[in-house]
Amino acid sequence: MDEEGAIVAAALPGSVEEVASKTGMSIEKVKRILDDLFFKGVAFPRDFKARDYFRFARDIIQLHDATLATRQLDPERGREFAALWREFGEKEYYPKFGQLIKATGMKVWRVVPAYKAVKGSPDLLPCEDIREILKANSRIAVVPCSCRTVSRLAGDGCRYTDEAETWHCIQVGRGAEYVIERGSGVEISLDEALRLIDKIEDDGLIHTWGNTAEMSGKGLTVNCNCCSDCCEFFMFLKGANIPVTKAALEKSRWQAFVDEEKCKGCQTCVERCHFEAIELYKPEGSRRYKARVIAENCFGCGVCATGCPEGAITLKAVRPPEHIPGAVA
Ligand code: SF4
Ligand code: SF4
Ligand code: SF4
Repeated sequence: MDEEGAIVAAALPGSVEEVASKTGMSIEKVKRILDDLFFKGVAFPRDFKARDYFRFARDIIQLHDATLATRQLDPERGREFAALWREFGEKEYYPKFGQLIKATGMKVWRVVPAYKAVKGSPDLLPCEDIREILKANSRIAVVPCSCRTVSRLAGDGCRYTDEAETWHCIQVGRGAEYVIERGSGVEISLDEALRLIDKIEDDGLIHTWGNTAEMSGKGLTVNCNCCSDCCEFFMFLKGANIPVTKAALEKSRWQAFVDEEKCKGCQTCVERCHFEAIELYKPEGSRRYKARVIAENCFGCGVCATGCPEGAITLKAVRPPEHIPGAVA
């Protein structure tokens, strides 16, 4: 943003009239600047259409996501912008946020098992079925993932997927309304969202959702599809030198189990697991390596199961429904 944009942003929160009065600028000018800041992902209107009362980004994560998760980034300036975020992240933002997560024990997000790994199980609850969660939302949209955009533009890339080819950040409810009105993402139908979920699972990304049994409503705006190469959860913990298994995400109710008879020791599951929860070992008397799950590290995401060419991994529910806040009345 330019200097006038910064002056207006610093005068938030407030109505257009209040900001005009605080800054000494005309109402028309403030309106134009606030609209520009809205489209840039810096200022957030209470009502996305009326755009008459704004606040600044709620926190650094919202500023990161809104300014980067957009199809409107200029390719050249976007590269520079992403590099600045990466530099700021590595020097300050990731380690500090990692420490904060550790200190608070914050687990606001929960892993949702890959649908293909749990479909048909009588233990599956609707609130841990990603397809049912999406069906519960009347509007769905998709934007390019801010974290993978940084990885892509800042030059590190992602081993799992290509954000330039497929966008992975699924917005619902008010989140969908926001990105549609802003033009930072596009609205998609339920069928398109379900096809995207299939692709996400094939690519080995982890579904996450708010740690609640609610499937729509206030505060539930995004289905994040994470990977350990790019996503901020992982960056925060790496930055603060905290094992990923210790904080930030709540486990699903599920855990992976390997059928050693079927396992051919190909290592695909080890490469797909983002939590270092599966390893190869040589059972006594066996000439082949076999996979085994390290139960305490397993988050029950199911990406090992969906990627196993031998169908040797199954997910089983190992925690009661009470594990999900609000799942039991
Ligand atoms: S997919 Fe996750 S990490 Fe990426 S922008 Fe969306 S919420 Fe953020
Ligand atoms: S992907 Fe399947 S076959 Fe390959 S090592 Fe893992 S469990 Fe065994
Ligand atoms: S072993 Fe790894 S990939 Fe498999 S369910 Fe557990 S955490 Fe996910």
